[in-house]
Amino acid sequence: MRRLSGGAAAKHYRCPGCEQMIPPGLPHVVAWPRYGDVDDRRHWHAPCWAARDRRSPRTRRSRDAPRY
Ligand SMILES: [Zn+2]
Repeated sequence: MRRLSGGAAAKHYRCPGCEQMIPPGLPHVVAWPRYGDVDDRRHWHAPCWAARDRRSPRTRRSRDAPRY
């Protein structure tokens, strides 16, 4: 993942960490997969990015779930 701070954005972006909008002009983190498309980038609040490991729903374990 790549990251940078964007303070010159002119659009609203939805932060995937908290599902809230990031207003224009607010410094935030832009991240996208290293081998992915730039169009797949995500815009995060800096605190949400820092806490993404705790907040991401993809990290939940399903080991205890029955598979049949
Ligand atoms: Zn957020």
